[in-house]
Amino acid sequence: MGSPPQIHRPLINLVWLKRDLRTQDHRPLFEAEREGIPYLVIYLLEPNMMDYRDTSLRHLRFVYHSILEMNAFWLPCKREVQLLYGEAIAVFSDLIRQFKIKRVLSYRESGIRLTWERDKKLGELFQKKGVGWRQFQRDGILRGIRNRDGWDKQWFVTMNEAVIKNTYRERSVRLEANSFRLPEVLVDRLQPYDELFQPAGESKAWRYLESFAVGRGASYHWHLSKPAESRLSCSRISPYLAWGNISIRQAYQFIKHHPNYPRFKRAFGAFLTRLKWHCHFIQKFEMECDYETRCINRGYELLEHEFKEDWIVAWQEGQTGYPLIDACMRCVRRTGWINFRMRAMLVSFLCHHLDQDWRSGAPFLARQFLDYEPGIHYPQFQMQAGTTGVNTVRMYNPVKQSNDHDATGVFIRKWVPEIYRVPREHIHEPWKMSVMEQQFCQTYIGTDYPSPIVPLEESARKAREKIWGHRSHPLVEQEQKRILRKHTRRKK
Ligand SMILES: Cc1cc2nc3c(=O)[nH]c(=O)nc-3n(C[C@H](O)[C@H](O)[C@H](O)COP(=O)(O)OP(=O)(O)OC[C@H]3O[C@@H](n4cnc5c(N)ncnc54)[C@H](O)[C@@H]3O)c2cc1C
Repeated sequence: MGSPPQIHRPLINLVWLKRDLRTQDHRPLFEAEREGIPYLVIYLLEPNMMDYRDTSLRHLRFVYHSILEMNAFWLPCKREVQLLYGEAIAVFSDLIRQFKIKRVLSYRESGIRLTWERDKKLGELFQKKGVGWRQFQRDGILRGIRNRDGWDKQWFVTMNEAVIKNTYRERSVRLEANSFRLPEVLVDRLQPYDELFQPAGESKAWRYLESFAVGRGASYHWHLSKPAESRLSCSRISPYLAWGNISIRQAYQFIKHHPNYPRFKRAFGAFLTRLKWHCHFIQKFEMECDYETRCINRGYELLEHEFKEDWIVAWQEGQTGYPLIDACMRCVRRTGWINFRMRAMLVSFLCHHLDQDWRSGAPFLARQFLDYEPGIHYPQFQMQAGTTGVNTVRMYNPVKQSNDHDATGVFIRKWVPEIYRVPREHIHEPWKMSVMEQQFCQTYIGTDYPSPIVPLEESARKAREKIWGHRSHPLVEQEQKRILRKHTRRKK
């Protein structure tokens, strides 16, 4: 008997894209070009991630369309992203059979526990098979640090480093036997794109950033909190940052060195601060991904919440009887975006006024946000829910927010058309209309639009007593010290 036939496995590198769907300022792609051996670029659609509670079709479509744009850009050099459908271990095992993989090149992922565990298993597989894995630092996020000493300084260093100018030679590697091709039915689901969502892709990211810099951003700091005006005046680059159509450094340098910077200094300064917040929150998550599932201050696990499914459903469907809450929820469901203050108000209403556990709403809102980024989402959610014990608990009064930020009710009328005819003086509290006033505007509260599901003042008072009263619990205080040591800069 002769020896088994030798299968020739071509030597390649492999670039694994995650939340970095762009062709410029891309370190793994740059290193792959520099090494000079052929390389394959892949993106994995993993069934267990796709079915996970934080993922929705709008995210997957954004990813798919971002990749289509990358492929269009790469057409002249005959390169493309291979979209593969399968669990990571199975896909990589198959690729290792087909190719002699020198290195996998990717950015580090500051993800949920599921991706962390997957990466651990992959690390073991690569080690066993002699495949190297270079994971590069993403934006300003550092791996393996124990506290925040020196973090801010390092962030500015990273932001001011030269942006990588990627160039691509013509060289293609083909996947001869691809058992992980996307099923036709999946392609059919990913192909359509709802026009009410921001369009996906690198060129769109730049279009948004440029229009912000040349005009839209002039009144950014005035309009930031207003649900209607913020749609135009905010940068709206969050989905592009979340899926990596643009890097934080590209956005930072573009605005910092823009000719309009001196003119719009206040607005642009506020914007640059927020880019740092972006990384600051992801850094928290990188250091403690339990933010997804547990109160970061374990002392708050002791608080009990009576689960009220019908209240949660009313909140999710924008049927609480509080016009601004309902308008914001319907808007984010339909368009994938709402401004920061309104996000905070939605969480505050669920966790304080309705007294529901934050976990009953966090995955739901994650699915609605087109810009869903676990590293920002979960720490922000817990901060607004008051379970960190280190931040001031802010309770947003939806009627006050409505008067302050949608005074004429233009936003409410757009998203809650049932109360379109309610006059301006009642638009924030329609339940206060007398029967005659309801007749005048032909809008009946309790019939056309729900009565408030909870009384506002009373529920806020109870929540204040509950959350603030718990702050002095020994476990909360002990945890507070731990959190401050780990996640904040120590004073010299
Ligand atoms: C409960 C809750 C959940 C959130 N979930 C997400 C999320 O999943 N993904 C996400 O990108 N943002 C999230 N945010 C933060 C913030 O609301 C959005 O970043 C912002 O509304 C995006 O709009 P923009 O791009 O126009 O922001 P701009 O105001 O123009 O700011 C520019 C960029 O700075 C960053 N940024 C702005 N505000 C914050 C902030 N408060 N914290 C951290 N980074 C910030 C974002 O990357 C944003 O794109 C959340 C906020 C809350 C209260």
